[in-house]
Amino acid sequence: MGSPTVNVVRYTALFTGVVYGWYHRRTLQAAHDVHKIEAAAHQREHLVAQAKEAWIKKQQAPKAGSDALVTDPEDPRFDLEKLIKHWEAAAYVWESCEMRVPPDRDISFRSASMSASSLTGSCFCGAAAYRVSGPPTLSAYCHCTRCQQMSGAPCIWTIHFPAAAFSWTTPEALLDGYVTEGKPYKTRYRCKTCGACVASHNVKTESWSIWGGQLERDERAEIKGFDAVKPTAHIFFETAVIGVSDGLSKWVGYEGKSAQI
Ligand SMILES: [Zn+2]
Ligand SMILES: [Zn+2]
Repeated sequence: MGSPTVNVVRYTALFTGVVYGWYHRRTLQAAHDVHKIEAAAHQREHLVAQAKEAWIKKQQAPKAGSDALVTDPEDPRFDLEKLIKHWEAAAYVWESCEMRVPPDRDISFRSASMSASSLTGSCFCGAAAYRVSGPPTLSAYCHCTRCQQMSGAPCIWTIHFPAAAFSWTTPEALLDGYVTEGKPYKTRYRCKTCGACVASHNVKTESWSIWGGQLERDERAEIKGFDAVKPTAHIFFETAVIGVSDGLSKWVGYEGKSAQI
């Protein structure tokens, strides 16, 4: 059966062939396994993306039976008339110096248990904010020309507190002070960022005054603790530029300290 040399060559070739075959199979199997893992990962990503898309669609879809408001003009369900009605119902409109309230609100039956133990307010942008506590010494709609010029509104809702009841909750460096001509004892503060007047300090009476419209609102846009600070009169009404019929008393100057109109 041939020489020993031939046998060595023969068996070496056979062994090499077996080893190569085994190695090649392992390589193919490894490549197949990697492919399988990648495919599984891809499938998982696809499923997650599908689930996310379905969730977003579900959130955006109107609830069955409800007439959900569509604000996107591109949406085929968009109804401009309905949207305007919604805005009208939600907006505050000046009318005879009263806030017209949406039909589902009634400010005359608010709970009297609310207290002004601590109320907060701020300018338009929120950079200048304050806290007031305890009952106010005055709360009224002021029709004086100073308030009209300062705010640009026909009248403003001013609320006075003793100095100790007022404190800034934001850094005073964010404020500008302005002393009114003819009233060197009164400094009005405005927000440096948005420019809104937020409060004024009277060193003669040691009191602070704020504007009610800037007090913090709840989720229904109602002023928190309204009962404790609600207006009781119209003051400096001789210079009123708007007719008012809300039943509150009207005064030439301050309530109870001047002639009633
Ligand atoms: Zn501001
Ligand atoms: Zn005024």
